[in-house]
Amino acid sequence: RIVYLDGQYLAETEAKVSIFDRGFLMADGVYEVTSVLGGKLVDFPGHIVRLQRSLDALEIRNPLSSDDWLEVHRQLIVRNNIDEGMIYLQVTRGNPGDRDFAFPPADLPPTVVLFTQAKPGLANNPAAKTGLRIISIPDIRWGRRDIKTVQLLYPSMGKMMAKKAGVDDAWFVEEELVTEGTSNNAYIVKGNRIITRALSNDILHGITRAAVLRFAAEAQMEVEERSFSIEEAQAADEAFVTSASTFVMPVVEIDGAKIGAGTPGPIVARLREIYLEEMLKAAL
Ligand code: PMP
Repeated sequence: RIVYLDGQYLAETEAKVSIFDRGFLMADGVYEVTSVLGGKLVDFPGHIVRLQRSLDALEIRNPLSSDDWLEVHRQLIVRNNIDEGMIYLQVTRGNPGDRDFAFPPADLPPTVVLFTQAKPGLANNPAAKTGLRIISIPDIRWGRRDIKTVQLLYPSMGKMMAKKAGVDDAWFVEEELVTEGTSNNAYIVKGNRIITRALSNDILHGITRAAVLRFAAEAQMEVEERSFSIEEAQAADEAFVTSASTFVMPVVEIDGAKIGAGTPGPIVARLREIYLEEMLKAAL
């Protein structure tokens, strides 16, 4: 693989970052994951806007212009011959040359890393046909989940809890209400109505969430942005999750209770279809 590190395209074995990098020592950095379909970037502008928001929240300088970010993404697609897959982008506060809690001076250059992950069959993921089984776990993450930081230890632990329970993923619950999935936003469907938690510091402001809610409204579905409990989800007609790397995925079982008939429902199938169709049209 050819990767990008601080202005250079390198073989992955040649790309080296300092042990004093703030990303390594403090999880002091942010990231984005953009899907590639047919060699094109899905919702690239959405990711670049959120990247800026995350960097602003942590007072990390954005080292590249939007045009430069697009160029680096495109170079990596071409150099690695990616048809379907993902591009991972990470910006950390950089390498101050020692360990210190205080932020280094603002003129320290951030560390920029991008790499590709080829995923043939990404759009035709068989899980979209079978649906996901999930468990609920307590949300013990920090209070700024709206910032897309590289601090992913608890989400990783959540995925492992799901794996040990023999299911696919987990939803976080705080004060009896679902916040989001370990790496996705969470939704339920009742009749023609899509229900998902409102935006706040409690959840990541999903790029896919924004697009799906727009498409749902355009397709004459009702959209209600409010919190819901696991009990309400278990009694819903359908449930699903969204993320930039899985798009729209049905959830068919929560904590052992089947949702509806226990198979993916028509509203979620339609949303996935619309999402992929519209995003492919707009891909860069
Ligand atoms: N919530 C969390 C905690 C996530 O990690 C992700 C995926 N990065 C999402 C939601 C979905 O966001 P997006 O649609 O922008 O990928």
